[in-house]
Amino acid sequence: MTATLINVIHYGLHYLVPALLAYWISQSSWAKLDWKRIWAILIATMLVDLDHLLATPIFDPNRCSIGFHPLHSWVAIGAYGLLLIPRRTRIIAIGLLFHMFTDGLDCVLRSHFILT
Ligand SMILES: [Zn+2]
Repeated sequence: MTATLINVIHYGLHYLVPALLAYWISQSSWAKLDWKRIWAILIATMLVDLDHLLATPIFDPNRCSIGFHPLHSWVAIGAYGLLLIPRRTRIIAIGLLFHMFTDGLDCVLRSHFILT
C-alpha cells in the first residue's frame, strides 16, 4: 500500500463517510436536522485538528495524532464518549469519535505498511 492510497482512504473517510453518517443520523428519531446540516456539523468537528498547531512540527505525516495532541488524547476521547449522552451534543460527539477513529486507522495503516 502506498502513501497516496492511505491518503485517499483517509480523506475519503474524512468527507464521504460523514455524509453517509449524516444521512443515517437524520433518519434517527432524536435528530431533528436534515442530513446536510448534520454533515456540516460532522465536517466542523475536524476543527479538533487545530490542536496540531500546538505541536512542533505542526505537521508530521509519520506521527500518530492519537495520544499525542491534547484534543486527541485518551482523556479527550473519553470526554467525547460522554458527549454522546445528551441529545444536543450527540452529533458533535459522533463527529469527534469518528475523527479519532479515522486518525487511529491512519496510524495503524502507516505503521503496518512500508511507505515508499
Ligand atoms: Zn485529527
